[in-house]
Amino acid sequence: DNGKLKRLLAWLEESRCTSVLTGAGMSTESGIPDFRSREGFWRNLDPRTVATVDAMKHHYDEFHRFYSARIRALRKVRPHRGHDVLASWERQGRVHAVATQNVERLHQEAGSRNVYELHGSILDFRCARCGEDAEREEFLRRSPCPSCGGPLRPGIVLFGEILPERAWENAFQSMERSDLVLVIGTRLEVSPVNRLPMVSGGKKVLINAQPTEMDHDFDLVIRGKAGELLHQLETMRKS
Ligand code: NAD
Repeated sequence: DNGKLKRLLAWLEESRCTSVLTGAGMSTESGIPDFRSREGFWRNLDPRTVATVDAMKHHYDEFHRFYSARIRALRKVRPHRGHDVLASWERQGRVHAVATQNVERLHQEAGSRNVYELHGSILDFRCARCGEDAEREEFLRRSPCPSCGGPLRPGIVLFGEILPERAWENAFQSMERSDLVLVIGTRLEVSPVNRLPMVSGGKKVLINAQPTEMDHDFDLVIRGKAGELLHQLETMRKS
């Protein structure tokens, strides 16, 4: 509702440092399903059973099929107007950084520069054994690693793996110095990322389509679609 959006706009105007944290719900309006979606390639599959170190090691066929489908599906995917709004807020000095659990680089594609990829990127590839960089096409073709013959993998963080240290530290510091944290499109059920907003002593706002277990930790919860609401906020700000 309008009252809540106005409150958020006022906080944004007052803020000296704002950090954003996004999750799968930030990408759904670009056509990428989140965990709960009933559509597409995840319909009959719990991603948690394929997005694990165990699956990669012991069920490489399923692992490879799952990620190949996700990577191929990205060809048609573009950032939406919500990504554009966050990028322009960064250019205007309103947003310091975007920490994201998403792996398909839509924030960067929209022009955000200070992006911390907490769960890596699905557009980078490497050997699962020796760590040597690899190409997308090599992964899609199921080629073995040119250096050691090991299996190739995308550069995402699987369940059971630790987060990229630099991204985590940058995100942590950014939250620490922020007096406003805007969390968008995440159920905040995956650790340790779900603890990041609490690092800030400032105001915390959650924009999400559905209620989450963490709603009570926020000063303001706005229910709705990320792209629509960010667009609405930007329209209100300019008027
Ligand atoms: P999640 O699927 O658990 O939660 C997404 C939340 O976003 C849900 O509460 C849903 O109601 C909400 N949502 C959906 N569409 C929305 C919209 N248009 N606007 C606002 N909210 C919307 O996802 P999560 O919390 O990000 O995290 C779970 C894990 O899944 C993470 O590890 C993440 O890396 C991974 N994941 C990533 C992607 C991606 O990279 N695009 C997609 C699915 C899952």
